Amino acid sequence: MKDKLTTLKHYYGYTSFRPGQEELIDAIMNGKDVVGVMPTGGGKSLCYQIPALCMEGITLVISPLISLMKDQVDGLLTMGVRADFLTSQMNMEEQNNTLRKAVAGQLDLLYVSPERLENDYFLSYVSRMTVNLIAVDEAHCISQWGHDFRPSYQSIPNVRRMCSNNPPFAAFTATATKKVREDMVNQLHLQEPYQFTASFDRPNLTFSIVHPKKKQQELLSILKDNETSIIYCNTRKNVERVHQFLNKKGFAAGYYHAGIEHDERNRQQEDFLYDKTTIIVATNAFGMGIDKSNVRRVIHYNLPLDMESYYQEAGRAGRDGVPAEAILFYSSQDIITNNLLIEQGNHPHAKKNLNTMITYCKTGQCLRRRILNYFDEETEWQTCDNCSNCNGETETINVTEACQKILSNIYRMKQLYGMGLVSDVLRGKEIARIKQLSFDQLSTFGIMSDYSDNEIKDIIALMVSEQYLQVGGNQYPILTFTGKTSELLKGTVQLYMMKPVKKEPVKVMQNNQDYDEELFEELRALRKSIAQEIGKPPFVVFSDKSLIDMAATPPSNTQEFLSVHGVGEAKLDRYGDAFLELISTYQEGKATS
Ligand code: ADP
Ligand code: MG
Ligand code: ZN
Repeated sequence: MKDKLTTLKHYYGYTSFRPGQEELIDAIMNGKDVVGVMPTGGGKSLCYQIPALCMEGITLVISPLISLMKDQVDGLLTMGVRADFLTSQMNMEEQNNTLRKAVAGQLDLLYVSPERLENDYFLSYVSRMTVNLIAVDEAHCISQWGHDFRPSYQSIPNVRRMCSNNPPFAAFTATATKKVREDMVNQLHLQEPYQFTASFDRPNLTFSIVHPKKKQQELLSILKDNETSIIYCNTRKNVERVHQFLNKKGFAAGYYHAGIEHDERNRQQEDFLYDKTTIIVATNAFGMGIDKSNVRRVIHYNLPLDMESYYQEAGRAGRDGVPAEAILFYSSQDIITNNLLIEQGNHPHAKKNLNTMITYCKTGQCLRRRILNYFDEETEWQTCDNCSNCNGETETINVTEACQKILSNIYRMKQLYGMGLVSDVLRGKEIARIKQLSFDQLSTFGIMSDYSDNEIKDIIALMVSEQYLQVGGNQYPILTFTGKTSELLKGTVQLYMMKPVKKEPVKVMQNNQDYDEELFEELRALRKSIAQEIGKPPFVVFSDKSLIDMAATPPSNTQEFLSVHGVGEAKLDRYGDAFLELISTYQEGKATS
């Protein structure tokens, strides 16, 4: 067997393992079944790829999506690894060709879909391969308790019969719940597996909550044209609106939602993967199977429905380990909208999930800690210094009196209207509709004229999330009292709200490494042109982290180039000369100017 550290350096150009990787790799190489639970971007692939490369024979990788297989195989090929995949899009001859290579020992890894394991023709080939490991990626798909149940995952154990040498099974997922994990072990028939659950912390992500006055304007102050961002919106309509807005402002932005016709959707996704567009505006339909490593920020334009989805989506930022941002836009309107959606739907946990998200937005405590605690992870520290609550100042204000004014106004308006009109009356706006309804005659008309519309709506949203108000009506979000409202009206309970003291300036991304930005841009351009030449996404050539490393300590010979993060032998051979030449030309130019 080959040595795992040498293999890591040789192919990947990395010098050390992340927590858990080594233990999982060792267990696999000792022939044990394993379960690896790591957050998105945690580095699960390496845990089965290293054993695949160190052991004799071939590793079968079961993966749920063609796009995932392609990305992985592309990445492996540029590192000089003998990898391939089988998909239904390939013709018979292509498939047979790949199968023959697998049987002849010319492949280290073969990626297949779970459906393939229901195919006898394929299984007959497997029985002629020397299979050293069966790796199941996104293994939570086997469980009905998970969020991406895939029935054909249940045929995976069949493949064991076809392998005479009884290879180990390795299951990986980013979904941590205990139920799903137990289900994975049972359904895959794992035998006393070695289990490792990594911390869900993603130290390179900065978490922020912002309360934008105008969301679109806020986007303009955050986005940069040369940095990759994903913007998640709650509806197709919002996706299209934001997309149009950004294009009008001159950004190279794409868009993605399930309503877009199939080919167009693929094109949008490819453009994003290939850095032709740097920004993508999308619904939550976008993301599964996107392993793009250089996403610098994920912005949630609307409040997500639950913490699991939020963390998975936000986790798509900074997979390369370079600092990245997860920014959530908070607005009281979203809370009202989501509440109304919940009233109209019938998801048993929806309300609880939403309240978790609201509490997350309203907490004055460390956001990272809040998230980790949600996933049952305790932390030894209280603050992280890398989230908007740890970095910014917040104050607690008592809003009980404001609540009472709002409630008595809602009462006087007969509990028949929504947040917009309620706020307008309180602020004393002389508009036609208010006059028509004679609301300007109410004693509450104008009693909150010193508040902004947003401030009033924030307080209403707080009352809704604390169940002192409910959002009803079949079509319109009408505000009505609940059984608890009188407690607040009488003042037997007090309500408090966290507020940022000053508007949080969104932190400009800081890298922990000082580097020459001009050189970085030139390296990026070179990466892009090489990627175009070979028809692969740029991040497959080099990660942002590799380029930053080159721009920080520019290598001047092949030996130094090999010590750059993420440079292995194959990448040195293929791209070393081009990058070294660019760097030396750049430095000469600097010296003479
Ligand atoms: P996951 O499948 O868990 O979401 P990946 O396997 O795609 O994550 O890995 C995420 C990124 O981290 C990849 O770019 C990968 O090359 C990188 N990575 C994994 N392990 C290491 C390591 N030991 N050192 C440096 N980078 C690593
Ligand atoms: Mg993965
Ligand atoms: Zn923090």
